[in-house]
Amino acid sequence: MELAENKEEVAMSSNTCFERNWILTCNSLQQIKDEYVCVVCQQVASNPHQLVCKEHEEFGDSLIVGESCLKRYLQESNGQCPILQHTGCEYSHSELVQKQIDDLTVRCPRQYQLDSQAVQEKGKIFPKKDEPMTRCSFKGRLQDVNDHLENSCPLELSSCWFKPFGCAMILLKDSEQAHLLSQVQFHLDLVKTHVQTLEKKNQQFKVVILT
Ligand SMILES: [Zn+2]
Ligand SMILES: [Zn+2]
Ligand SMILES: [Zn+2]
Ligand SMILES: [Zn+2]
Repeated sequence: MELAENKEEVAMSSNTCFERNWILTCNSLQQIKDEYVCVVCQQVASNPHQLVCKEHEEFGDSLIVGESCLKRYLQESNGQCPILQHTGCEYSHSELVQKQIDDLTVRCPRQYQLDSQAVQEKGKIFPKKDEPMTRCSFKGRLQDVNDHLENSCPLELSSCWFKPFGCAMILLKDSEQAHLLSQVQFHLDLVKTHVQTLEKKNQQFKVVILT
């Protein structure tokens, strides 16, 4: 089977906020201060900005929002502030919070992805032998994660070839084959459902044309 196409790198985007549960694997709840949490997505803010609008000065200085969340929010809400519905939102990059977040200790995000997937899927459709052999033991500061992923992470992740049909598994390069071999029926069912949906759509389309 040709697997070269349809590969996309499953990577952590450095723009979006950081998953709280990932950070919590190395930090206690107390270590994640309120001012680290993005007011839009409730995860740990990436590129934290502080909202300093005078409309809600009384909320103090803990109104932190991740840059990409803020930009998306302002765009979707026609410039309305995420805290109170007012325009003319004022914000500035918070270097202090940025430094504190950068200093948080974290594990390898790829290993985290694989582990949380293994927990979710355990005992369901994916048998034990699909579990990855290679592990990454990286533990370091959040600001060093991208460097780790680019230069020293032993894990190479990819999506299942049947992703377009609905298989959401994230696979290690060396467990790809095992997954495909052990999940033949599961993948066939996905394709079958997909084809049936297409046929149904096609029929509805014909009915529309004929009537
Ligand atoms: Zn966010
Ligand atoms: Zn505001
Ligand atoms: Zn790693
Ligand atoms: Zn699959």
